[in-house]
Amino acid sequence: MLETPVVSNNERDFILKGILSIIKEVVTAQQFEIWFSCLRVSSVTSNRITFVTPNSFIREWLKSHYHDLFSSAVYKVLNSSREVHFSTEEEVFDKLSATSFPPEEFFAGKKPPEENYHVPLNKYYSFENFVVGPCNRLAHAAAFAVSETPGLAYNPLFIHGASGLGKTHLLHAINNVLSSKHKMKTLYVPCERFVNHYISTIRTNSWDSFRAFYRNIDALLIDDIQAFENSQESREEFFHTFNTLYNAKKQIVITSDCPPELIATLEDRLISRFKWGLLCSIDNTTRETRIAIAEKKASLWGINLSHEAASYLAENVTGSIRELEGAIARLSREEKITKNSITLDRMRKIVWELSGNKRYISIETVIKAVSERFNIRVSQLQSRCRTRSLALPRQIAMHLSRKLTKMSLMEIGGYLGGRDHSTVIHADEKITKMLKKDKNLSIILQKLESELQK
Ligand code: ADP
Ligand code: MG
Repeated sequence: MLETPVVSNNERDFILKGILSIIKEVVTAQQFEIWFSCLRVSSVTSNRITFVTPNSFIREWLKSHYHDLFSSAVYKVLNSSREVHFSTEEEVFDKLSATSFPPEEFFAGKKPPEENYHVPLNKYYSFENFVVGPCNRLAHAAAFAVSETPGLAYNPLFIHGASGLGKTHLLHAINNVLSSKHKMKTLYVPCERFVNHYISTIRTNSWDSFRAFYRNIDALLIDDIQAFENSQESREEFFHTFNTLYNAKKQIVITSDCPPELIATLEDRLISRFKWGLLCSIDNTTRETRIAIAEKKASLWGINLSHEAASYLAENVTGSIRELEGAIARLSREEKITKNSITLDRMRKIVWELSGNKRYISIETVIKAVSERFNIRVSQLQSRCRTRSLALPRQIAMHLSRKLTKMSLMEIGGYLGGRDHSTVIHADEKITKMLKKDKNLSIILQKLESELQK
């Protein structure tokens, strides 16, 4: 059941300031910066206060580490106790738009509140917190240019890439700069919400309000435009919105999980408009970028993550950055529970579990199986000797270890003749290539693999 808020926006700010000043007294400056500086209060009712966090990781952390501190600070500021509740920006956004999108104040002609739909400021998703690597350099540079010279640099800017690689992060980063530095009236909207809003407007027939909502703005940031695929009519409406904004030299930024021409039903006229500006992609991250992101996230969250651990994660959690964040969060929870820093062995098991695998295979088992299959001694496999009769089985052992054990490249190299990580990558690539051509080898390895996994 929805509770009626009992305080205005200004009062909420005032309450938040009071609570933060109490918290500031008892935590270190660094803790304050990491966990509290990005918070806002979304509602205060007669029995509950809701704090909004930039993401679910911070929400969970605050819940588990600082709940009591919040309760007592709230009590001091409000002179009565409230149930303390934490939500992410996304949850608040979803909840509000499920009840009414856009909020009623907007149509009632009232001045929209500060944290209205135009500016769900998520300061956490800033340019400073975005790690730049070869996979996202162009997208980042273009997003940054747009935030510096909106409407002029690239219009529209179209960023595409697979899920979890930072598209929404960049949209929020642009949004933050446009609204705080340029004081622009921006609208961040997931495409799906545009479509739902369009559908509900068919019912209410309030087209003037609908159009005003999307057109009386300085910049439109529309996320995940592939959601237009199944909605021809809302695409048509978007086409007109686009033209109006574009002709008025308003900045438009669009993201999608694929290039516009691969969105199956998108009309050519929209595709060609998207290409008027700059089209750029975010590609899969490289190992080095993933290490840098893991280290950046850990430092943002105040988690102790050794370089070795970051490398291990970067090599083994190779999907989206969201998964990498999940793995770091899981590690930090473990660390908290055991009160020790995590050993590499423990981490290996965690990552292994996270990837949904049941059976844990040790590198020793792999080496032993390869040595038996090729009739050479384990010590020979582990030696530095480079004769061809040993080199190939050693490369096979490296390949299988990488595939089955989830050991770090460095560890695999260490076990197999003290090689470095690039030797292991080279071996893995070489065997993968050979397997495509050499049927015999492919059969041998399939058999070895299935024996190991039994
Ligand atoms: P997408 O919208 O492409 O699906 P998101 O922007 O939601 O992906 O990113 C998923 C998570 O990964 C976010 O928490 C985001 O901060 C993080 N992330 C992605 N790329 C980077 C990067 N280059 N640097 C820092 N964090 C990143
Ligand atoms: Mg996204």
